[in-house]
Amino acid sequence: MGSGELACAVTPKTASRLATPISPRTTIPLMPSLETPAHAGCECGAVRLTTHGTLARFYCHCSICQRLNQSAYGDPVFVWRKDVEVEDPSQLAWRRYRRLPINLNRGTCRTCDTLVLEHLAASPISVVIGNAWDEQERLPSPKGHIFYESRLQDVDDELPKRSGYLSSQLAVTRWVLEGMRGH
Ligand SMILES: [Zn+2]
Ligand SMILES: [Zn+2]
Repeated sequence: MGSGELACAVTPKTASRLATPISPRTTIPLMPSLETPAHAGCECGAVRLTTHGTLARFYCHCSICQRLNQSAYGDPVFVWRKDVEVEDPSQLAWRRYRRLPINLNRGTCRTCDTLVLEHLAASPISVVIGNAWDEQERLPSPKGHIFYESRLQDVDDELPKRSGYLSSQLAVTRWVLEGMRGH
């Protein structure tokens, strides 16, 4: 049984108490305080942004992430949109992806085409792509894998793996809620 199934069966309070022994990989401290800004940007340096804290990080094996990240899976890090400050927003080119049920705007560098930032439609949450962060060692540990059914390769780790839209969506929702509670 993964920590996820158990977390559903108990109250949030119990879940937070149980989180440490059950899934040590998910409890490595997040970028902790709002006082500590973190920086990210594209490969060429034209896009630079600052943010504060993170909500959740996970691996996404959907075909859009595969294509836009040009890798087997995406590494999105969820943050509050209000915490993201883009130095020069004119450096970003926005493309809307609206293939139901996915609805988001993806921001790539106009110069080097690196995907850096995504805004989820009708949500206060944004995504800063994992590779874009300056200090990788400050990123939280990934919580798991979603849309695993469309993986290009098997991943040999202990993280939970969710397939299908509903299961993936529920997992992300839970991970974000955990992030809001600070673990
Ligand atoms: Zn660039
Ligand atoms: Zn994806």
